[in-house]
Amino acid sequence: MPAADASRAVPALEVVDLRKTYASGVQALKSVSLKVAQGDFFALLGPNGAGKSTLIGILSSLVNPTSGDARVFGLSIHADRGGVMRQIGLVPQEINFNQFETPFEICVNVAGFYGIPRTIARPRAEKYLKELRIWDKAFQPTRMMSGGMKRRLMIARAMMNEPRLLILDEPTAGVDIEIRRSMWHFITGINRAGTTVILTTHYLEEAEQLCRNIAIIDHGEIVEDTSMRRLLSKLDVQSFVLDVMGFDGTLPQIDGVKLVRLDDQTLEAEMPSTHDLNALFAALTAHGITVTSMRNKTNRLEELFVRLVERNGNGAAA
Ligand code: ADP
Repeated sequence: MPAADASRAVPALEVVDLRKTYASGVQALKSVSLKVAQGDFFALLGPNGAGKSTLIGILSSLVNPTSGDARVFGLSIHADRGGVMRQIGLVPQEINFNQFETPFEICVNVAGFYGIPRTIARPRAEKYLKELRIWDKAFQPTRMMSGGMKRRLMIARAMMNEPRLLILDEPTAGVDIEIRRSMWHFITGINRAGTTVILTTHYLEEAEQLCRNIAIIDHGEIVEDTSMRRLLSKLDVQSFVLDVMGFDGTLPQIDGVKLVRLDDQTLEAEMPSTHDLNALFAALTAHGITVTSMRNKTNRLEELFVRLVERNGNGAAA
């Protein structure tokens, strides 16, 4: 294999039998193994307390694993912590910069930790602050910035070492839709340019739209590790909420459709994805029920996620 191909074959991230038991006795990770290919846009999803932050904390040297290894572009977190850190850009969940510093200072100073000279750091900070559309606030203390701007600054800061792997831990939590879109525009752009992206999010629809591959973690275990396409194709059931007129309180029996009354004006219909909707409407009409409007009950991935968690026996997880 030519050298270039061989280096391409090394995964951006390879997690091998990683375990973490906190001093409290909580087993946050139970033998987690995972591979993320170079160039991937990878979603790591899971309910609160699943172990996502612990995993990300281990990759970014904030948490010590109990056992196992993680390799970033072939470098082990045990053998070459510094090398791993140089490959990674981390956007943590909590805003954790000094609110009295300016965005420009924050970016240039973090570059200093990586030994990047100021002559390179300054134009680089300008480039990313402009791309993330916060350049007009670059020289004001960050405490004057809105929440969405602070989140974008966290991304600009994570780009200062031009990482090959960008890890974002719930980066859009609480951010309004317009700013969220502009963040995604930036991140998909750098992913297209070759940066591998790992994203944890509660916005499952977002993962569905953005990510090519997905792992679902629950109670410290990987319960699904597949491509987004394959995961979605597993979903063979769709649910609709129907606003209706003429419902007399008796639910009609319709082949292949599970019908539930939510109230006298609202029914819920669950059926295979292949089911003909016209047949549903015709059957309802035959029972004197008119559908005035309808909508998908849930996002498909959301539904699958709930089912996986239930299958794993953890239905109570929030
Ligand atoms: P997630 O990011 O998916 O919400 P976490 O990795 O934060 O999950 O948490 C996984 C489990 O580990 C949870 O039960 C959590 O309470 C526990 N945990 C996280 N951090 C610590 C810590 N520093 N000390 C003890 N337990 C912790």
